Amino acid sequence: MESLALFEALKAFASTHAWRYVYPVWSRRAQGISIGINLHPNHCCNWHCLYCQVAGLQRGPSPVIDVSGLQQELTDCLHWLSQQIHPTRTLRDCVQDIAFAGDGEPTTSPQFPDILAMLANLLQQRSADDRPAYVRLITNGSQLQHAHVQHALKLLHALGGEVWFKVDAGNDAEMRAINDARLPLSLHMQRLQASCMVCNTWVQTAVVSRKVNGEIITTPSLTGYLQALLPFKQQIKGILLYGIARPSQQDNLGCLQATPAVVLEQFAEILRTQGFCVRLFF
Ligand code: SF4
Repeated sequence: MESLALFEALKAFASTHAWRYVYPVWSRRAQGISIGINLHPNHCCNWHCLYCQVAGLQRGPSPVIDVSGLQQELTDCLHWLSQQIHPTRTLRDCVQDIAFAGDGEPTTSPQFPDILAMLANLLQQRSADDRPAYVRLITNGSQLQHAHVQHALKLLHALGGEVWFKVDAGNDAEMRAINDARLPLSLHMQRLQASCMVCNTWVQTAVVSRKVNGEIITTPSLTGYLQALLPFKQQIKGILLYGIARPSQQDNLGCLQATPAVVLEQFAEILRTQGFCVRLFF
């Protein structure tokens, strides 16, 4: 079965089983099938990004996760995939990753380290060909100062996994405007440092255009963004740069605009001339 057909079949399988935590997505950044793990089915996050696609997003605590239920969903998902894949291909060929993402920030869940350990155990029982190539943590990075999160990321590193760390701003005001985060950019960069020290880390950046008082403003502002990231040039794997492809569920004023492809390309080019590896997604 081709990957796209496999994805559609997996989606149908997932919906008939009404999984609570595991969801298949076709990921433009992973470039194929991604098995998502959602630790926030209550749609609670500690940030409130302007472009967030989570309907009903709110601030609030992480819910208690039924870890054995989640383990069963993952087991069923991987088992079903193994059965569907043509014998000439492997699960590793067909599924790009298992990604902690979902409807809130995964690392705010106090159960995140235990759930990662459960996943590691599950994957270690399978051959390298019979599991996805990567485990990824897609994170806003806001909890990376905590020792228990850093410790969990060491396990992620041991699994050959990677962190995708959100940096959407070139200054504190943009952190507030885009992420609704009252975190100074300099502190956010300390969290990026902590991530780089324990696990392979990519920066992920949404280039956002919005209308403010009749004027189109595109963020992150390049000078501040570069100043913040240049010290990390040797430490990060690169930058995943993307525009807003799907409608925001938070943009009540309708101020978001699609960032023109030419602007994204210019942004990427400037970063490349500064020596960063950049992957661009429209
Ligand atoms: S960090 Fe992610 S889930 Fe949270 S508000 Fe931002 S985009 Fe949405």
